[in-house]
Amino acid sequence: MKATRPGHLPPPSPDHGQGRVCAVPGCATRLSRYNPKRNCWLHTEITFPNYRGKRLAPGKA
Ligand SMILES: [Zn+2]
Repeated sequence: MKATRPGHLPPPSPDHGQGRVCAVPGCATRLSRYNPKRNCWLHTEITFPNYRGKRLAPGKA
């Protein structure tokens, strides 16, 4: 799927722009233009430390 046609409108695909980098200060990891996230995979992982399929404390959810 190419997008090299000289048109005005971009293709209706989840394009978030080129040249984006991780939103974490100091992190220059590039993000894919199709990646809806604002952080790189590394910092995205630490954003949800409690979501590993486990419960930290039963009854304290
Ligand atoms: Zn990052």
